[in-house]
Amino acid sequence: MAVLALQEARAWAAAAAVPDPEVPCVTVADLGILRWVRLQDGVAVAGVSPTYSGCPAVLAIELAIDAALREAGFEPRIERLLSPPWTTDWITQEGREKLRAYGIAPPVAGGGKASLFQVAEVACPRCGSGDTERLSEFGSTACKAQYRCCACREPFDYFKCI
Ligand SMILES: [Zn+2]
Repeated sequence: MAVLALQEARAWAAAAAVPDPEVPCVTVADLGILRWVRLQDGVAVAGVSPTYSGCPAVLAIELAIDAALREAGFEPRIERLLSPPWTTDWITQEGREKLRAYGIAPPVAGGGKASLFQVAEVACPRCGSGDTERLSEFGSTACKAQYRCCACREPFDYFKCI
């Protein structure tokens, strides 16, 4: 059992280190996309929750996790987890810090579906000011919106809440 747990931890570490193809400053584990890795009959099964449905990155993420596990010496299998659906609430604290350091405002925790009806206050990732305005619904990718800080005048991406 101990050996299995060790192997499982190694498989997790290999898969968890895969960067997100659209936001390479964070890993699939930071984003909460990679849910778990289990060894079943010698196969490393990775549970992956797709982010925004229809996001072209989903397939790229699955292929990258597959490749990372293969490289670590495992026989990989990806299990796509559709329920419960991924939400930005699953982004880890560390992931949020990394996004901010990269100049992307992390999604407002717990914003979820409520943000459809009310615009949550998005803080500037550079100076922390809440005095920001939305420039465009879509930023560099469909998963992000473009904002500008009224205090420091810097434009920035906001990782949209879902
Ligand atoms: Zn600012």
